[in-house]
Amino acid sequence: MHEWALAESILTAAVEESDKGKLKRITEIKIGLGELQQIEQDIFEFALDEIIKFQADKLKDVKIKLETIKSTLKCKNCNHTWSFSDMKKKISEDEGEAIHFIPEVAFVHTRCPKCGSPDFEITTGRGVSITQIKGEK
Ligand SMILES: [Zn+2]
Repeated sequence: MHEWALAESILTAAVEESDKGKLKRITEIKIGLGELQQIEQDIFEFALDEIIKFQADKLKDVKIKLETIKSTLKCKNCNHTWSFSDMKKKISEDEGEAIHFIPEVAFVHTRCPKCGSPDFEITTGRGVSITQIKGEK
């Protein structure tokens, strides 16, 4: 039942974050699944659906998007490798309606810390986390 516990904590975190961002309603939650996490994705998605049914209005009609996340990155330009923890320090505030509150998975902001190239590949990963929440204020 690991997937159920995970789904519940993800949704709870999403609602808490939407409160911080003063969102009236959450329209979309993106969830990053690390490759080393080894959850059953089908069960996880089912659990999310079921829990959402019993949640408050805030999660009504929310769209859940799952994406696979790996945690070690490698620059294609200079072959430098670095980890999320290195990356996390460099990530700044996000723009617009999107809330990147778990910045270690915000790949869009990533550049190679050594040569500055945006051309990198991801090599290993773990963990499950929310990568983005969209909502209405
Ligand atoms: Zn590089």
